[in-house]
Amino acid sequence: MKIGFIGLGNMGTPMAVNLAAAGHEVSGFDLITDCPDGVSKADTAAQAATDADVVITMLPNGAILRSVACEIIPAMKAGATLLDCSTVDVQSARAVADDAIAADLLAVDAPVSGGIGGAAAGTLTFMAGGSDEAFANVNPLFDIMGQKAVHCGPSGNGQAAKICNNMILGATMIATCEAFALADKLGLERQSMFDVVSTSSGYSWSMNAYCPAPGIGPQSPSDNDYQPGFAAELMLKDLRLSQQAAESVDAPTPMGERATELYKQFVEDEDGLGSDFSAMLPRFEKMSR
Ligand code: NAD
Repeated sequence: MKIGFIGLGNMGTPMAVNLAAAGHEVSGFDLITDCPDGVSKADTAAQAATDADVVITMLPNGAILRSVACEIIPAMKAGATLLDCSTVDVQSARAVADDAIAADLLAVDAPVSGGIGGAAAGTLTFMAGGSDEAFANVNPLFDIMGQKAVHCGPSGNGQAAKICNNMILGATMIATCEAFALADKLGLERQSMFDVVSTSSGYSWSMNAYCPAPGIGPQSPSDNDYQPGFAAELMLKDLRLSQQAAESVDAPTPMGERATELYKQFVEDEDGLGSDFSAMLPRFEKMSR
């Protein structure tokens, strides 16, 4: 396929490299970053989009996605697919898809989980929203960039799935960290805490696969001085998107709201910026009630 790739940052660069390595003709554009080997450099986003069968965007937020979409949609050929893999608000995802469809294009929103490591290894998980036809068009690309793609329904549903998942993750990580800090103060060994909870009803991905206590459970960022991993500020971004979405449909999310407040405090007022999101545990350790 001829692919335009816009947004060659930490995630976009390895994803574009994997597509080029699989034999696709990739034309890339980024405001700042240079194109990696194997990806030809376009002078503008519109140039990268011209004649492409699929245009992939991997951008920081919904406002930037909307402005890039205004540039590229008129340049894309009829029948081509706009595939946005950024994490953005549901409304922006739906608005961009509507504009693309009105211009005779197909549209898929497919945010990812798996982080920079997953992007480099081609093992991302995609959560996709869009028509069956649009999903089928880009499914072969998901196979190259990832290990799993779930079609979650119409446009915007990929973003909805992503923020619901990460709202659960944020709240669960906080609950796991505060429980470890409580266990410490009650004189319970961390290994005993892990052995019980990881095989009892308190188990979760945060405890079992990504344990926030150093030296306990499988290897995780806590074993590397909380170097991310998944940075606390990216968790805060996703939690804020979850709250924006919840407000837009009047859904009560008290745990998501509290998780957002705690990560905001951690990232903006404390020393959380640049740390893994599991560094909530040393934060609680230092605090009193
Ligand atoms: P990044 O900041 O490294 O990359 C974004 C790139 O977009 C930058 O290189 C920037 O120059 C470029 N850009 C900004 N405005 C542009 C424009 N108008 N035209 C062209 N290029 C433009 O971010 P990232 O870590 O690659 O993340 C990209 C998206 O993926 C975000 O939405 C993020 O939330 C999501 N995501 C990131 C991770 C992660 O672990 N980094 C994991 C899952 C999802």
